[in-house]
Amino acid sequence: MCERVTLLDKTFVKFIPSEEVDAAIERLADQINNDYRDDDPILLVTLNGAIVFAVDLLKKLTIRCKITCVKLSSYSGTQSTNNVKSLIGLNEDLRGKRVLVLEDIIDTGRTYGHITEMLKDSGLKDLRIATMTYKPDAYKSDLPIHYVGFAIPDKFVVGRGLDYDGYGRNLPDIYQLDTSI
Ligand code: 5GP
Ligand code: MG
Repeated sequence: MCERVTLLDKTFVKFIPSEEVDAAIERLADQINNDYRDDDPILLVTLNGAIVFAVDLLKKLTIRCKITCVKLSSYSGTQSTNNVKSLIGLNEDLRGKRVLVLEDIIDTGRTYGHITEMLKDSGLKDLRIATMTYKPDAYKSDLPIHYVGFAIPDKFVVGRGLDYDGYGRNLPDIYQLDTSI
């Protein structure tokens, strides 16, 4: 596999090899299988970025569970005072359910904050999040993050579902933006 990859105008260098990502996902799956073994949770996959991570993780889950996909969408309508994000596609009844959000990356935590806010009246029993990557130095929220594949530096990454302007999601390894050139 390539040590460097170019997407549009930027070059990226290999940062986490595919096998290490697989091993981290295996570890997360073990934890989730253990923590949710009696619970029949709903796994909430955030499109588009988390698709690849979610597919890899789901194949390792042995628990009884349901999967639903949601997309966060920004609207700046003429009547709204500021940008509103809404969950498109959530038609699952969450009352009394444990919900586990699956994310590709947590950066500032704003997206996760929106999800929590929007689900607060859904009657769910318990909300947790599993993320493939997490940038602790960029995180500005107080919400706990329950399952983390990799804590990474505050640098832009692509691969394994993470994109640069839509490209790079299909790379099996995770690459970091090359700032040396
Ligand atoms: P948040 O700041 O709300 O935690 O993250 C917002 C979104 O920014 C993420 O879902 C992801 O789409 C994008 N993002 C943040 N950091 C990176 C990164 O290093 N690489 C890529 N490809 N996307 C990122
Ligand atoms: Mg995302």
